[in-house]
Amino acid sequence: MTEEKTYIKASSIQEALQLAETHSSHCKFIAGGTDMMVNKYQGNDTTQHLIDISGIDELKTIRKDDTYLYIGSLVRLSDLKKNSDIATEFPVLLEAAHAVGSPLIRQTATLGGNILCENRCIYFNQSEWWREAVGYCLKCNGNVCIATGGKKACFSEFASDTAPALIALNAKVKLIEPSGERVIALEELFSGDGIKPKTIGTDCLIKEIILPRGQAFKAVFKKLRLRETLEFTSLTTAVSLNNKNDLRIVLGGVDPKPVLVKAKLNDNKEDLIKKAIKGGRAVDNDMFSRTYRRDMISVFLKEAFALLNI
Ligand SMILES: Cc1cc2nc3c(=O)[nH]c(=O)nc-3n(C[C@H](O)[C@H](O)[C@H](O)COP(=O)(O)OP(=O)(O)OC[C@H]3O[C@@H](n4cnc5c(N)ncnc54)[C@H](O)[C@@H]3O)c2cc1C
Repeated sequence: MTEEKTYIKASSIQEALQLAETHSSHCKFIAGGTDMMVNKYQGNDTTQHLIDISGIDELKTIRKDDTYLYIGSLVRLSDLKKNSDIATEFPVLLEAAHAVGSPLIRQTATLGGNILCENRCIYFNQSEWWREAVGYCLKCNGNVCIATGGKKACFSEFASDTAPALIALNAKVKLIEPSGERVIALEELFSGDGIKPKTIGTDCLIKEIILPRGQAFKAVFKKLRLRETLEFTSLTTAVSLNNKNDLRIVLGGVDPKPVLVKAKLNDNKEDLIKKAIKGGRAVDNDMFSRTYRRDMISVFLKEAFALLNI
């Protein structure tokens, strides 16, 4: 007998949380649906109950106080550029958002959904018959990682483009779950386990993304991909420097989680590049080889340091 599937639209945060509690581990929130629906059609996401949060107006606002800018998780990627505070204080976020998919996708995709978009791998993001033909990998209930031949770890790539930029900007996220609210550093959302890459449960809602103001960030974003549009990342780098001389280097696409190197302006740059490369567990599961992507980390970081004049 096939399991009953439901699609429920929540009109408030409280309703969304109640629905999530009722359906416990068999549900997921859906925002723009641009990531989740593709995974569902490919049979990679078998969630039984979808809770549509796209109608919750409370999650669509951008506000600020003297210390922080608060971006609602449902703000669409294409709408970020309409906010003058983001354009003035955090332009690197606009660059990162612009690097996602195509204009049509960015008009539907949300910032919260982008942060939590599913990890990717050339052996996972395939149709059901393809995956069955090659033998299922660890991420789809198989017993071996096709990329490495190993049986222990999955190395699906962290794919979000905005998360590296946000982590470089020292972003925090406010989470709401049945047990209450909490604020964590954005990087703490990611586990490093390619099979279950998020540290939060499916009943946990991102309310807003919180950016610290007044730090005069200078930042550089770069993305390696085969085509300049409609292409997920093969390597993302975001490097920022604030007015306290804190340097943050973040990599995406070369590990199951974003790689963060925290440093100071005067630290040796060659050492920082080595540390960043060492931090990523890139394997041959991408259109570009592992070796090329690791080499490109060095190229991108040198370009970023030059652009930052450091
Ligand atoms: C052709 C194509 C190209 C793409 N290219 C890129 C690309 O270049 N870069 C890139 O980063 N992405 C890309 N994507 C993936 C996707 O479009 C984006 O990641 C998008 O930002 C996801 O946002 P969404 O609102 O559609 O998320 P959804 O698909 O609705 O959700 C994604 C995940 O986030 C969870 N979620 C969403 N909102 C919340 C919330 N507020 N609280 C808790 N959980 C939540 C969902 O449960 C789900 O697990 C592409 C997709 C397609 C189809």
